[in-house]
Amino acid sequence: MHCGLCLPTCPTYDATKLERNSPRGRIALMRAIADDRLEPSKTFADEMYFCLGCLACMTACPAGVNYAELFEHARAEAEASGVLNSPRRSLIRTFTLRWLFMDLGRLQWVGAVLRLYQNLGIQSFIRRSGILELLPKQLRELEAITPQIQPSLSAEMITPITPARGEQRYRVALLTGCAQDLIYSNINRDTAEILAQNGCDVITPPDQSCCGSLHAHNGEWELAQELARRQIDQFPPGQFDAIITNAGGCGSHLKHYHKLLADDPQYSERANLWDRKVKDIHEWLVNTGFRTPRPSAESGKDLTVTYHESCHLCHGQRITQQPRELLRAIPGLKLVELPESSWCCGSAGIYNIVQPEMANTLLKRKLNHIKSTQASVVATGNPGCLLQIVNGAKQAGMDLRVVHPITLLAEAYRREQP
Ligand code: SF4
Ligand code: SF4
Repeated sequence: MHCGLCLPTCPTYDATKLERNSPRGRIALMRAIADDRLEPSKTFADEMYFCLGCLACMTACPAGVNYAELFEHARAEAEASGVLNSPRRSLIRTFTLRWLFMDLGRLQWVGAVLRLYQNLGIQSFIRRSGILELLPKQLRELEAITPQIQPSLSAEMITPITPARGEQRYRVALLTGCAQDLIYSNINRDTAEILAQNGCDVITPPDQSCCGSLHAHNGEWELAQELARRQIDQFPPGQFDAIITNAGGCGSHLKHYHKLLADDPQYSERANLWDRKVKDIHEWLVNTGFRTPRPSAESGKDLTVTYHESCHLCHGQRITQQPRELLRAIPGLKLVELPESSWCCGSAGIYNIVQPEMANTLLKRKLNHIKSTQASVVATGNPGCLLQIVNGAKQAGMDLRVVHPITLLAEAYRREQP
């Protein structure tokens, strides 16, 4: 089918109106390569990296085309062909994908250095000094969006076993993520707390691995497979009622390990069970029936909140109503709908770093919609989106709190009167 119903939902096509920047155009390119009518070229590879991987086209497609899979294979094909190779690019990919994110001890070490750089005032001194003006534009832009590193990692805030409060109903594992652990470990703590409040024994080992989503989205299929095997070994799916993730982007990848490991006789069966056990936190709480927080003296103050949908939560996992249901259950919280709530904010993994122009266009569009709601808080369920909107709001001088829905729920539980 070439119906084109996906075209109006595609942010890159919307921006350029060029067929090749649309899902249909990209699929045609992929097909031409699969049929040997075209060689993978730099133009093809650039096109695959201009795509956000937001998966809005998948939601729109009446024929059920699995764009997510096509897209990951196309990027892997682009990498295998070597058409984008350059010494600088190879160095960056080796450092990040093959070294840093393959061992979270290394990532945490880099995080600790960054934390010192921020806490000792070196960052603000450098920013004030004007030295940054001497750097190339790309590095300046990268420095400006460096996230604030949390004072503590998840392992310092969450015990390996958090017992259920009250009656124990489930035994779940909590995935703390890679970058999420450095910049949003507080969300992991809130998640463990909420799960325990809702009858779960929460197992949170301190030495976790990256889920491999970054690798799969950037054409490193074999590394993604290695990381998937590590996860399955660390969290044998048969031992848990659910394996919980609170990051929309990771969840979308974590639910498809069977595709990654389909040809691995040792892991394929466990990968199938794993996929069934992985649950996004909003999905799990609504499915199992979460406890509505009791009103407190403070919850009388109305809080207007709007909700931005992470692409991989709404398009990748089709989870749209559950976060809204959680938010609406919070006493004193008024949820106002965000226009184009499921339109990408431009974060898209590392897209805001590698394609800053397009990412900024999308961010401005998102911020304008947020402004139109007059909400003082925007909730969203993915660390990339949180970071992107935080940075955008800061640059635009907006007084906006950007927060995970789970944090708002955890705060409501903490406010409950005894
Ligand atoms: S994933 Fe997003 S950017 Fe890529 S083709 Fe689909 S809608 Fe367009
Ligand atoms: S991907 Fe789906 S919606 Fe888009 S042109 Fe093909 S069949 Fe139509």
